[in-house]
Amino acid sequence: MALIVQKYGGTSVGTLERIRNVAQKALSRQRQGDQVVVVVSAMAGETNRLIKLALDLTELPDLREYDALISTGENVSVALLAIAIQSIGGKARSLVANQIPIFSEGVYKDGRIKKIGTQKIRKLLNHGSIVVAAGFQAVDQEGNIHTLGRGGSDTTAVALAAALNADLCEIYTDVDGVYTADPNICPDARKLDKISYDEVMEMASAGAKVLMIRSVELAKNYNVKLAVLSSLMDLPGTLVVKGDKEMEKTVVSGVAYDKNECKITVSRVPDQPGVAATVFKSLGDAHIIVDMIVQNVSEKGYTDLTFTVRKEDMARAKKLADVASRKLAAGEIKIDPNVAKVSIVGVGMRSAAGVAGRMFETLGQAGINIQAISTSEIKVSCLIDAKYTELAVRELHSAFNLAKAPAGSKPKKRAKN
Ligand code: ADP
Ligand code: ASP
Ligand code: MG
Repeated sequence: MALIVQKYGGTSVGTLERIRNVAQKALSRQRQGDQVVVVVSAMAGETNRLIKLALDLTELPDLREYDALISTGENVSVALLAIAIQSIGGKARSLVANQIPIFSEGVYKDGRIKKIGTQKIRKLLNHGSIVVAAGFQAVDQEGNIHTLGRGGSDTTAVALAAALNADLCEIYTDVDGVYTADPNICPDARKLDKISYDEVMEMASAGAKVLMIRSVELAKNYNVKLAVLSSLMDLPGTLVVKGDKEMEKTVVSGVAYDKNECKITVSRVPDQPGVAATVFKSLGDAHIIVDMIVQNVSEKGYTDLTFTVRKEDMARAKKLADVASRKLAAGEIKIDPNVAKVSIVGVGMRSAAGVAGRMFETLGQAGINIQAISTSEIKVSCLIDAKYTELAVRELHSAFNLAKAPAGSKPKKRAKN
């Protein structure tokens, strides 16, 4: 008997019909003889709706109440799914974070899972129940609800799989695996049978929301076997594996984009030691994640300091940048939400030269200006005007030969580029 953790995202539980479909899938897996824990997200659009309600009241809501509010979408879906399973003859029990319990540490909105109690789940599984666990939420020692960051149900699923020592964690979503680029904007994108933890982690950090980055980190650290599959079609998915030799031969394995960042520029900052610390320390203290940073000389003795943060942190970041700017006697703060980050990712980049140059050339030939650049060992990212996102992804996808193998050709393991 295997223990399987299945996770279904918002679209997969977006309607009652889809919830019935999930109930059927979970029950048939259990009837094959496996123990099944199902983690669910809020119904599609629900978390965004709740966020909008809070932000319509105030630009800067109290984060404790914000988390208390936006975690409730998952409460609805666990109960509905348990009812759906029971209605087709199965045994099911829904559990929210404090009932499991899943304990968090750290801040609101970006909680980290610290500890999971497995006793109750094991007892329910041993009594023949399917356990339906709420994704995205955890509680701190005082019982306050913390959410785990957008897309956090993936992290709940992997953390539960690790805590329960599950045989497999299946992430069911609205696409049938991890592709070389988002298949919804890049028609040529190719499904990967397997991808390394490192690559999918970089893809996730570059904005490919098919898996939340922290879920992959956890899966890698705790050796959780992870698969990405379609909840709507019965097709083979993508297995996330440790890197292998074959993968290292591929220089670029995917293209990703992120429209969820905004660009903030503090202009006319005196060019002196310690100024960057004044700006970024206050952002760090407020737990605002800064992604790309560029410093440009604006005039003699002054620089413009440009950086990106997540759109949801824009108002808080602007407020803090204002304070820092006054302290430094710097110039005005400019905000640009119409930017996107496009990235190329591949473990083979570690040992290949000229990849960044080819990326810049491709964007240049498409008439796309680069506003900021950042790199890691296996990723190059460029900040561009958001209106060119789709064009940039498609151009890069074709420049690095990532397209589908033509119909009728012998299937290849992975195309080299
Ligand atoms: P869920 O609600 O199931 O968690 P998400 O919307 O978070 O689903 O993630 C699935 C989406 O990820 C897909 O619909 C697709 O548009 C997007 N995506 C982005 N990059 C990729 C990629 N490289 N491969 C597959 N899907 C991708
Ligand atoms: N419902 C949460 C969100 O929309 C968590 C998730 O979907 O994974 O971010
Ligand atoms: Mg998701």
